[in-house]
Amino acid sequence: MPAARPGRELPLQRGRFCSGKRASLPAQRPFPVIQKVVASMAHLQEEKLRLQEEVLALQEKLAARESEEIAVSVQLRGQVENLKVNLREQAQEIGRLRSEMGGTDAEKHRDLLVAENERLRQEMKAHEGELRELRRQQAACQDCTHLQENAGLQERLCQLQREAEEARVKLVELELEVQQKTNRLAEVELRLKDSLAERAQEEERLSRRLRDSQETIASLRAQPQQIKYIIKTVEVESAKAKQALCESQSRNQYLQEQVGMQRQVLKEMEQQLQSSQKTAAQLRAQIAMYELELERAHGQMLEEMQVMEDEKNRAIEEAFSRAQVEMKAVHENLAGVRTNLLTLQPALRTLTHDYNSLKRQVRDFPLLLQETLRSARAEIGQAIEEVNSTNRELLRKYRRELQLRKKCHNELVRLKGNIRVFGRVRPITKEDGEGPEAVSAVTFDADDDAVLHLLHKGKQVSFELDKVFPPQASQEEVFQEVQALVTSCIDGYNVCIFAYGQTGAGKTYTMEGTSTNPGINQRALQLLFSEVQSKAADWDYAISVSVAEIYNEALRDLLGKEPQEKLEIKLCPDGSGQLYVPGLTEFSVQSVEDINKVFEFGHVNRVTECTNLNEHSSRSHALLIVTVRGLDRSTGLRTTGKLNLVDLAGSERVGRSGAEGSRLREAQYINRSLSALGDVIYALRSRQGHVPFRNSKLTYLLQDSLSGDSKTLMMVQVSPAEKNSSETLCSLKFAERVRSVELGPVSRKAELVSWPSQEQLEGDLPGSSSRSHASSSPGLPSSRATSIRRKLQTSGKLRLVPV
Ligand code: ADP
Ligand code: MG
Repeated sequence: MPAARPGRELPLQRGRFCSGKRASLPAQRPFPVIQKVVASMAHLQEEKLRLQEEVLALQEKLAARESEEIAVSVQLRGQVENLKVNLREQAQEIGRLRSEMGGTDAEKHRDLLVAENERLRQEMKAHEGELRELRRQQAACQDCTHLQENAGLQERLCQLQREAEEARVKLVELELEVQQKTNRLAEVELRLKDSLAERAQEEERLSRRLRDSQETIASLRAQPQQIKYIIKTVEVESAKAKQALCESQSRNQYLQEQVGMQRQVLKEMEQQLQSSQKTAAQLRAQIAMYELELERAHGQMLEEMQVMEDEKNRAIEEAFSRAQVEMKAVHENLAGVRTNLLTLQPALRTLTHDYNSLKRQVRDFPLLLQETLRSARAEIGQAIEEVNSTNRELLRKYRRELQLRKKCHNELVRLKGNIRVFGRVRPITKEDGEGPEAVSAVTFDADDDAVLHLLHKGKQVSFELDKVFPPQASQEEVFQEVQALVTSCIDGYNVCIFAYGQTGAGKTYTMEGTSTNPGINQRALQLLFSEVQSKAADWDYAISVSVAEIYNEALRDLLGKEPQEKLEIKLCPDGSGQLYVPGLTEFSVQSVEDINKVFEFGHVNRVTECTNLNEHSSRSHALLIVTVRGLDRSTGLRTTGKLNLVDLAGSERVGRSGAEGSRLREAQYINRSLSALGDVIYALRSRQGHVPFRNSKLTYLLQDSLSGDSKTLMMVQVSPAEKNSSETLCSLKFAERVRSVELGPVSRKAELVSWPSQEQLEGDLPGSSSRSHASSSPGLPSSRATSIRRKLQTSGKLRLVPV
């Protein structure tokens, strides 16, 4: 029996491959199927191994059975041989007996034995044939493939069944045979008994005859010679008979032994038969078990095949339906493509036509291009020429417009007044102390942001300025009002912003501010940087700064190497009439960081130069001079604007408090310079022919920035505290006077007779007699100004003299 070849599946195993639960479609659930397949494979492998083992066991059993059969056949052959020998001996014996007794039973027995012998031979041949057949089947089985193994097994099983059947039949036959043999043996025994009986009778007869003979001999002995002779004859005969008897007895003995042997053989054969029957029963049980196993396997196989078939059908159906759907889609696509093709064909024709024409055009293109380029060049040249001439014209017009704009702007500024006066009231601070003295003496007009009222010595005095910032006004709000002035510096105007007021009124706060809340200085420079940046496309700008202070009419450079050195203001030697300060350091700045560095540097210099900064700063004028130089790249126009940011010395009346020595000198200098500034502003605002710039270092230094179409802003700082009301009054009067100078053709010719000194300002207190305001001027007073002016208590020391 061949072992199942490894690597190939038995049909049975293949059947099991899909057994169990219904297998899903691979496309839907690939992993469970693979797992199931793997599991089935493993199971099949086990099954295969088990079957192989079974087959091997069967082969072994078969071999054992074959060897048994061979042994049995050998034994049978030996028995047959023995029987043959026995038969031959018996035949001889019978022949001899027949010759002796002429018995026919022995002959019959012999015939039977011969026939038996013959039958046994036949049987043996049949067994041999069976063996051969089995071997042949084995050989045939070895060629079986895995696919045929099951069939082979089934076939073998059938064969085994057949063999078992045959063996059964044979067994029955053998049983019959044994029975027959037994019968025959019984007959033989009977016959032997008969022959023994006969012999006994014969012996009896012979012994009787012997006795008769002996009696006769004895009777005859009694008779002389004759009797002797007879006796001798009888003795002789008797000896002969005795010899024959002995022989017969020995033969009989021998035959009995033979029978005993035969019986032994028979017994052995019966035992063999029984063991054969037992083996046959075992084989039959095994065969039945195999049959059952095969039946079960077959059933399982059929079941699995059915499941597989079902799944196959289902998969085919699904694939078919899918294929149908896909086919449908493909058909639809095809139809779409066909229609597209049909519609595309004309388009293709048109495209081909277009392509051909394009090809022609491309061929002709270089020529066309050259021609076009030629004409284009000519056209472009012409256009450039035209553009150039238009440009020239535009430039001319632009310059004219620029002039016009400047003129208009100047006119506007002239009309508005290029000197503006703002008031800023600081909040009440801790320094103001507590009690009635620290109460605010300043109130504001809710409807007019240019008016403020001061309660002084129980009387309310009202002032009208260009703008009033209440204590809550932020640095940003203040700067918003001044930023137009700052930006005009970029356009080439000179600008001056002064912070005026008594010490502690907030001048430094407005101009410098704090690091977290900067004042006009830093904001102005930031604005300048951003404006310059926005104009960078057309303009190149350079911004530089100088920081100086005027103390006791001495000008010092706070950015210089020797800040204590006094600088002089000189006329430019080029004859332009311009002033300059030799040795004044000018730092070019690019960013706010640069500015901060410059301020820091200036501050350090100022600190090292004085023992008490607060006191010193309140008695000197601090100047930040920003110069903005611009170049219009398109026109080549150059502009220079100067922004002068001045933190003036304290305007308080120190001189009156009986100060002496340096303190008095300081006070006089301050007084003089502030009066000079007032004079200059007044002269400018009233368009006087002579402006007394030279009366102080400050006005002389700022001459350029105060005259012409320059713009000036006076930020008058006041403290609202009741205790400062006198100083506040003075400051506001100063502001009012500066502002109240009328503009216009008449005032242009007006002449400053005298500007009140600080002391005089103090004297102009409300309620004084002989007050007449400059509103008496024949200018163009506004109705609002007139109404306010009526309320004002002005000194009337200004005299406008028509030219
Ligand atoms: P000045 O320079 O006129 O002598 P300061 O600028 O030094 O006066 O101001 C004096 C004090 O008042 C400072 O502490 C300053 O911070 C404060 N101060 C001035 N103006 C304001 C304001 N608008 N808001 C808040 N505090 C102010
Ligand atoms: Mg100050």
